[in-house]
Amino acid sequence: MNINISNIPAGSSTVELSQSATLMALPENFSGDVSAHVSLIKTSWQIVVKIDAHADAAFECDRCADQSVHRIDAEFEQVYTWGETERDTVEGDDFFVLGDGQKVIDLADAVREYLLLAVPVKNLCHEDCRGLCPVCGTNLNERLCTCAPETGDIRWSALQNLASRNEPHS
Ligand SMILES: [Zn+2]
Ligand SMILES: [Zn+2]
Repeated sequence: MNINISNIPAGSSTVELSQSATLMALPENFSGDVSAHVSLIKTSWQIVVKIDAHADAAFECDRCADQSVHRIDAEFEQVYTWGETERDTVEGDDFFVLGDGQKVIDLADAVREYLLLAVPVKNLCHEDCRGLCPVCGTNLNERLCTCAPETGDIRWSALQNLASRNEPHS
């Protein structure tokens, strides 16, 4: 995830980067290559770097525990400058001062961090996952078990009981 900044032209340009998730020291559920589309705007005093990174990672579904692979997208921006003068105009941690004669910037740490931040808190194999039967543990996406109809919606059966109790006796 290195960019040789002495080679890039003034003005805007793009660089495509890729590196294996393992070499990026990402967790084991990440697989294949991490790819990053990088847009650069270089002026005489700074380089603005926009990174659009993607990776594939396997997650366990929160409802049925099935493993499925999701694409993780992370977008972020960094500013590299050759002097401290512009510092006040930039907020946050994504501001770096280039050392004298520094020719390479390494985006690996930042890409790793932003990808990890982009990992969803909730993971479902698909939106309408039916999960596991709470009685027998059958994966209800694959087949229905015999106990499924009885477990139904408890609130609904409670209402039905109430309704039958209120029915006038003839
Ligand atoms: Zn699921
Ligand atoms: Zn069941």
